[in-house]
Amino acid sequence: MSKSPDTQRPPSQSHGAASMEKIVSLCKRRGFIFQSSEIYGGLNGAWDYGPLGVELKRNLKNYWWRTMVHERDDIVGMDGSILMNRLVWKASGHEDTFSDPMVDCRSCKARLRADQVINKKGEKQCPTCGGKDLTEPRAFNLMFKTYVGATEDESSITYLRPETAQAIFVQFKNVLDVARKKLPFGIAQIGKAFRNEINPRNFTFRSREFEQMELEYFCRPEQGMELLEYWKEERLKFYENIGISRENLHVLTVPDEERAFYSKGTYDIEYEFPFGRQELEGVAYRTDYDLSQHQKASGKSLEYFDEETKHKFIPHVVEPSAGVDRTVLALICEAYTEDEAPDEKGKMETRTVLRLHPRMAPIKCAVFPLLKNKEELVAKAKEIVDRLRPHMFVFYDEGGAIGRRYRRQDEIGTPFGVTVDFETFGEKDGSLRDTVTLRERDSMKQERVKISDLPGILVSRIL
Ligand code: ATP
Repeated sequence: MSKSPDTQRPPSQSHGAASMEKIVSLCKRRGFIFQSSEIYGGLNGAWDYGPLGVELKRNLKNYWWRTMVHERDDIVGMDGSILMNRLVWKASGHEDTFSDPMVDCRSCKARLRADQVINKKGEKQCPTCGGKDLTEPRAFNLMFKTYVGATEDESSITYLRPETAQAIFVQFKNVLDVARKKLPFGIAQIGKAFRNEINPRNFTFRSREFEQMELEYFCRPEQGMELLEYWKEERLKFYENIGISRENLHVLTVPDEERAFYSKGTYDIEYEFPFGRQELEGVAYRTDYDLSQHQKASGKSLEYFDEETKHKFIPHVVEPSAGVDRTVLALICEAYTEDEAPDEKGKMETRTVLRLHPRMAPIKCAVFPLLKNKEELVAKAKEIVDRLRPHMFVFYDEGGAIGRRYRRQDEIGTPFGVTVDFETFGEKDGSLRDTVTLRERDSMKQERVKISDLPGILVSRIL
């Protein structure tokens, strides 16, 4: 629930070619991300993921789930509803305090988050028009209000959840009973969250509808601080394992005065976006605040019974809470590069490459027949597609010169390309029969591999 300003930060120096303009344009052109409701003029703060974007997002969520749930003994998953009883949001404190301070500019009518106001030598200015006639900040609740059922009155009010975490807290007892885990253990969840942000900005970075990947890791009080450090390190490793370089990550220790009052320690893991250094994930030690609040408000015990000491107590919790959309954006920013490569005639041209980690890449391998009008090449290429499909998402492309086809795949981050040529039929050299060219995206190096070895080689490189 911590808030950090997203203006007045220096633009990142580390991105070279990756300007936001180029990234937004690539995302639209190649079908990663579109504006929501575009044909009606869009809806501010809402985005749609196209055919490639949905794959990238899914790969990210699957990898998070794999490393957080499947590869561990101490974490289980759940999938909570978006609509919950309003009392949840009263008890959690969201109804009263989940707000940003908002300021209006009387000159240009801009609505601003108070931290977006420019402070010039002690004088406040509107960042849009430079006007100095600003209202005093007032609290603006970020939750989307809605009504459940046919009557629209006070008794039917609830909210679209502004975070996924509360479903985990209120189901703590049910999950504990069925999972039969001992402390420390965690509950993980991925799902949509909604915040009526005053000023959605920076492409998908600050949206009104977004997805979170959250873990609530329950522990004994004395383990909290140590586990906060542990999870910060684990999460940094995660980002490196999806291809985000350590040098573009930054850990901010949230100062005491900016931390939620119940938190004993919070780190923000930040990324050097082209528009400045911004939060990707918060890792917070939230003490026993959430479970205590829900126990108090619901009157139901949310205690843990320690079989060794025969004591009951409310567990403490460490929460790594990451944004799916922000991480997808970071992956694209990190991967975007331009280099020089020879065209069909050997002339150097600019090549746009998304150097996505193979494990994140939407398409893992593209398969090409050298020529589309040679039946045997086409048939062999399609046979290879069928052979690879059970293992990964592959793409078949027969249109245009082979160099063009490679470029199209480079631009969307496909790490491997397989070309079927006349050598595959051993026309000149019998020892090359049933082999293909395997091309690697970043180095553009080509190797000759046996078709029967392809699934094994590729699977080992994309896992
Ligand atoms: P910020 O200060 O940027 O508003 P926050 O500190 O309020 O973020 P948390 O409540 O800690 O964010 O939420 C956890 C994560 O959810 C964030 O680190 C971020 O990745 C994601 N997130 C939060 N708000 C948004 C949003 N409006 N759009 C996209 N992702 C978001």
